[in-house]
Amino acid sequence: MQLDKRRDISIDGLKARVLELAKRRGFLWPSYEIYGGVAGLWDYGPVGAMLKHRVESAWRDIFVVGESALPIETPTIGVEEVFLASGHLSNFVDLIVECVNCQTALRADHVVTEYLQSRGIAADLCDPDIADACVPSSEKTQELMDSYDIMCPDCGGPLGKVHDFNLMFTTHIGPGTQRKGYLRPETAQGIFADFPRLLRFYRDRLPFGVAQIGKSYRNEISPRQGVIRLREFTQAEVEVFVDPREKNHHPRFDEVANVEINILSKDFAGTASVKTACERNIIAHEYLAYHIARCQAFFTRVGVRESRLRFRQHLPDEMAHYAVDCWDAEGLTQHGWIELAGIADRTDYDLKQHERQSGLQMAVFVPYDEPKEVERIIVRPNMGYLGPKYKGKAKQVAAFLSTIRDPEGPIVFDGRIVDPEGYAIETIRQTVSGDFVTPHVIEPSFGIDRSIYTLLEHAYDEDTIDGERRIVLRLSPDIAPVEVAVFPLVKVLNEKALEVFRLLRRAGFLVEYDDSGTIGRRYRRQDEIGTPFAVTIDHETTENSTVTIRDRDTTKQVRSSIESLVDVLRGMLVRGFDRISS
Ligand SMILES: [Zn+2]
Repeated sequence: MQLDKRRDISIDGLKARVLELAKRRGFLWPSYEIYGGVAGLWDYGPVGAMLKHRVESAWRDIFVVGESALPIETPTIGVEEVFLASGHLSNFVDLIVECVNCQTALRADHVVTEYLQSRGIAADLCDPDIADACVPSSEKTQELMDSYDIMCPDCGGPLGKVHDFNLMFTTHIGPGTQRKGYLRPETAQGIFADFPRLLRFYRDRLPFGVAQIGKSYRNEISPRQGVIRLREFTQAEVEVFVDPREKNHHPRFDEVANVEINILSKDFAGTASVKTACERNIIAHEYLAYHIARCQAFFTRVGVRESRLRFRQHLPDEMAHYAVDCWDAEGLTQHGWIELAGIADRTDYDLKQHERQSGLQMAVFVPYDEPKEVERIIVRPNMGYLGPKYKGKAKQVAAFLSTIRDPEGPIVFDGRIVDPEGYAIETIRQTVSGDFVTPHVIEPSFGIDRSIYTLLEHAYDEDTIDGERRIVLRLSPDIAPVEVAVFPLVKVLNEKALEVFRLLRRAGFLVEYDDSGTIGRRYRRQDEIGTPFAVTIDHETTENSTVTIRDRDTTKQVRSSIESLVDVLRGMLVRGFDRISS
C-alpha cells in the first residue's frame, strides 16, 4: 500500500468544486441561507441526507451488528453534574480574544499563527517537537501577541486579553433558571451515566460495548473551514467496557491481525499489520489495535481511499491527561489531513469521575476461580461526625468512603480533604470470592459529517466522455443515494419504463425514474449524484424485453433481459459491473 502524499489530487480547486457540486445537487448547503447563514451550521439536502443515512447504516453494520454493541439513545441535553464529572466544564475550552474596537471574537492562537505566517516568521506557538499537532498555551499566545503588537485582522483595532472560552452551548431546563443544561459535546457521557443499568442489562459481565449515533455540539469561536468545523455535528461512538487486565487479549484479534494500516507515530512511520504494530508496541494493546482495524474497514467501505487514510498516534501532551494511548484516523483532503475518528483508551477515568460525582459505585464484580481468605484495609464512615459536618451531602460522602480499599494518605472528596474524624480505618479478615474492577473504556469515536465530506472529495472526479467534460462522483454502491436510475429513451416508452421502475422498487432497490430532458443530460445528473447504474428502455425493449444497463464509471453498456434484471443488478452492486457483464 502506497501512502498518497500529494495534497492536491490532480484537480485544481477541488475543494470549491466539491462544494459547488454538493450545493447544486442537493447534498449539502448552508443552513438558514435566506437569513444569511450561520458559520458552522449546514443542512443535508435530499440527496445528502440519504447518503448520510446510508453511511450511518454502514457504520451500524460494522460496529453494532458486527460487534454486538447494542445502541442506546440518550438526550442531547445534559445536566451540570455530568460535565462537572467529565471535566468539560473546566477543560473544554479554546483560546479567545476580542477586538476592543469592532468586538469581533477570534481564536487567539489562530490570529497569532496567521499573523506570523503571513510575515514569514517561524511560529513557536506550539511545541517544536510536535510535527502535526499544536497545543497552544494562553501565556505563550499572549506573549507573542504583545511582542509583535498584533492587531485585529478585521479592523486593525487593538485586541483585549487572551482568555479561555468554554465551547459548550448552555441552556436552562424548565422555566426559571433553577437547573442549568448543556448541549452535549460528545455522545459518550450519556453512555457513562447509564453504566449501572447497562451493567445489569449485560448481567454483570465484561466485556460489552454500547453504541450511540447522534448530534453533538461545540460552540466554536469562529469556524472558517466550511463543513469541516461544525457547531452541530453527528457523532457515532462505541464505548467498549473491558477488564483492564484483559486489554491485550481481544477475543477476535485473529480476524484482523493481518490488516495493514498506514501509521504515523512517535517511533514509526509507514505501513504495518495491526499484529506487528501490537507486537512492536507501536499500538498499546490488542483492544485498540482491533478497533483501529475495524475503523479502517468502515472507512474503506464508505469510500475513503485507503491511500489517503492514516492512523496518527497522539503525542503525550496532545492526549487527555488520563488517556493511555490515543489514535486519530485521518483522511487527506484539500484541507490537509483532517481527523475523521479517534480511537482512545479512556481508562477508568470517566467511570471513576462519575462514581465520585454521583456517590454510586461503577464497578463490576469479577469472581475468582476459588474464594480466598484475605486481609483488607477498609474505610468505615463515621456518620456521627459526617452528618453534622456535610449535612445533605453526608450520605454521598459515606458511600464514597465505603468504596475505598487500602487507602493511602489523606482522603479527598470533591476536591477537599475529608477530616480524619469522619471515618475509621480498619483491617479486617474476610473470605472473598472475587474483586470489584472498574472497567476501562476503549472508544472508537467517529465524526460522520467530516467522513462524508472526505468521501465526497475522494469520490469526485472529472473526465471526458465523447469529447464532453463530465463530473462524476465515484461513490461506493454501498452508500450511493440512488442505486439505479431508470430512463425511457423516448416518450412512447414511458409506460414500459415505469413498469421496470416499479419492478426494481418492489425488489428493494433505491431507484429513481427520470423522463425529462435528453438522455445525455439524464446520465450527467445521475453521474453527478454518484448513481452506479442506469437502466434505459429503448425500442429494442418492445421487441425482445431487454434493456441496457450503463456503468457510471466506464459508461460501458450491456443488455439484460427484464426477467433477469433484478439478479443482474444485485450482482453488479455487490461485485461490480465488469464481473457480471462479462
Ligand atoms: Zn476589530
